Amino acid sequence: MDIWYTKNQTEHVRFSIRIEKQLASVQSEFQRIDIFDSVEFGRIMTLDGLLIVTEKDEYIYHEMITHIPMATNPNIKRVLVIGAGDGGTVRELCRYPTIEHIDMVEIDEMVVQLSKEYLLFTAYCLEDSRVHIYYQDGLRFVRKKENAYDLILVDSTDPFGVGEGLFTKEFYGNCYKALSADGILVNQHESTFYTAYSNAMKRAHSRIKSFFPIALVYQTHIPTYPSGHWLFGFASKQYDPRQDLQADWWNSLRLKTRYYNTILHQGCFAIPNNVRDALREAKE
Ligand code: SAM
Repeated sequence: MDIWYTKNQTEHVRFSIRIEKQLASVQSEFQRIDIFDSVEFGRIMTLDGLLIVTEKDEYIYHEMITHIPMATNPNIKRVLVIGAGDGGTVRELCRYPTIEHIDMVEIDEMVVQLSKEYLLFTAYCLEDSRVHIYYQDGLRFVRKKENAYDLILVDSTDPFGVGEGLFTKEFYGNCYKALSADGILVNQHESTFYTAYSNAMKRAHSRIKSFFPIALVYQTHIPTYPSGHWLFGFASKQYDPRQDLQADWWNSLRLKTRYYNTILHQGCFAIPNNVRDALREAKE
């Protein structure tokens, strides 16, 4: 029998992956969580039917959300990760001996439990002694923090449902307050190819730049994300990730990566005109 997972990237565009076997399907308090084995992309997890992690390409996203800020400020010690229940972002952070404390705030404990059971390739560092997991809404958690973190990574789902609050002006303002004087905020920043994602990106960007003196986006290529062209937001109180890149320091760590390198670090901020135009249009 032919089984396919299909994601509607827009109402007129579908992306399908041939499935070998379904391993889990759980309705949590917040969303439906499905885990499959697929022919081309290995093990995959979906949330409310949206493709979240695939074994074959997750490394691109998790390396790019982590190593760009880490190579910009070698003094990052205290990190807040919001969302990130599959564990891939924490896995990349734990490779840095310089990091002393990681708070991970994931609203849905079931995502973490199922990731530990079925996605060990992303979840295997969640037991690291530096990692402290809070099963809470990231929007509420960050309200109480001031000057507490050197880096905040927002590894959230898209801006609807439980994820919606993580794209608000209130949230970005509280992230600014929760960060140290040279703090950096990196967020999953959607894409510009399809209208719905482009509008979300513009809204998020206009809100972020109302707080942070440096507010840039950088790009990557993720085959299973809508259009394959995906953005991250880089917001900073002090560092410019292009001029302040500490390439010699980062390369001295000898971290083996499959996507990120310090040459690509410079290049990924050279964004296409259609993205530059969208950022210029960004307003509330
Ligand atoms: N990399 C993926 C992507 O780009 O879609 C996201 C990975 S991670 C699994 C996204 C996580 O964000 C989910 O586990 C979801 O439960 C969590 N999440 C969504 N809204 C949240 C909120 N308000 N507070 C904390 N976690 C949230």
